[in-house]
Amino acid sequence: MDYRDSPAEAEFRSRLRAWLADNNPGFRSSSTDDEYWARQAEWHTTLYNAGFFGLSWPKRYGGHELPTVFDVIVDDEVAAAGAPPRPSLGYLVQGISTHGTEEIKDRFLPALISGKDRWCQGFSEPDAGSDLAALRTTATLDGDDFVVDGRKIWTSYSDVADWCFLLARTDADVPKHKGISAFAISMEQPGIERRPLKMINGTTKEFGQVTFDGARVPVAHMIGEPGEGWRVAMTIVSHEREPGELGYVARYAKTVNRLKQTVHDDPHAFRPDQREAVAWAHVQVEMLRRHVCRRLSERLDGIDHGPGGSIDKLLMTWVEQSVGAAALSVSGPRAALDTEDEALKVYLYSRAQSVMGGTSQIQKNIIATRILNLPTA
Ligand SMILES: Cc1cc2nc3c(=O)[nH]c(=O)nc-3n(C[C@H](O)[C@H](O)[C@H](O)COP(=O)(O)OP(=O)(O)OC[C@H]3O[C@@H](n4cnc5c(N)ncnc54)[C@H](O)[C@@H]3O)c2cc1C
Repeated sequence: MDYRDSPAEAEFRSRLRAWLADNNPGFRSSSTDDEYWARQAEWHTTLYNAGFFGLSWPKRYGGHELPTVFDVIVDDEVAAAGAPPRPSLGYLVQGISTHGTEEIKDRFLPALISGKDRWCQGFSEPDAGSDLAALRTTATLDGDDFVVDGRKIWTSYSDVADWCFLLARTDADVPKHKGISAFAISMEQPGIERRPLKMINGTTKEFGQVTFDGARVPVAHMIGEPGEGWRVAMTIVSHEREPGELGYVARYAKTVNRLKQTVHDDPHAFRPDQREAVAWAHVQVEMLRRHVCRRLSERLDGIDHGPGGSIDKLLMTWVEQSVGAAALSVSGPRAALDTEDEALKVYLYSRAQSVMGGTSQIQKNIIATRILNLPTA
């Protein structure tokens, strides 16, 4: 494949680069402190209003209907400018677009894409993470509403969300995968309590615990058919495992650019193994960037990657953890002495990548059984 920009892509890239020179808010990476989470909505709106967000999504919902490679250009340029990465919500857009009715899409997609409404994803529960189908939150029909009771955990952005993409059990009398339905439930109502959780790196605004106690959701806000929640969830997690959908390459590249600059500024202050860690992180990020380009170009050709998203998720994890290891190596003893050290935070956050969106062990199980056709244990 040809990695060079077409004339339209080159024009877009230079317009974006010029815009970023004047509009980079300059706050730190998502993985290192609360400022990113506090100001993510503002950055989302700024990018959207300038025409640099939602590029590949339909115009009807506020997108630009451009090929997905334009998202890669955004990732390249924000990383080069040291600007914050674009918000990662493509997987929710994909879930609603694939399974929602026209009414649901018209109702929810424009404000999700523009950033007017903030969303969280209420899938995991204290006893249902890898075994998601074991979830126990219930939605019980009561007139024109379902009444929701249960507990969700590790819900990213729950403290600021207006809406939650919720999975709940609507039928306890059928096999567990078949009794789940998906909903768009308002987070602004009585019967919902949100408690932030502190991450190992000190971040407190990334995720939280949400309790539903008699919260209500209209029947019309079900996404997909009754009992179709498992299929909806699989659409979402398969896209959540694709780095192209998430824009994480920009975050990795931003960190690696900073590490390269640090080593360039004072090369003799660093041992060969530290320089090698930075070089390896650079190679890995570039590998992932090209892999994303290939995947997106295959998608344009109508190729559905199906369980291949699990390979991408493992690659993304290896890259993020190589970048985290390089940051820690370059920081050296500072990271051990200062809990506010940015490299330490990047490193600690990178450990979460092998858990969020499905653990590495689960991805390997999927690759073994669904791609390699190996027997299950
Ligand atoms: C930063 C972050 C953000 C998150 N955001 C969200 C969110 O927005 N919404 C949401 O719903 N969830 C979210 N999660 C939760 C995430 O999806 C779960 O943590 C993940 O699915 C694992 O579930 P668990 O934590 O219950 O671990 P468990 O499922 O209990 O797994 C524990 C360990 O056992 C292993 N294991 C379990 N089953 C198997 C098996 N069959 N074969 C081999 N090994 C196995 C796992 O790999 C893991 O190592 C987030 C998590 C993180 C870290």
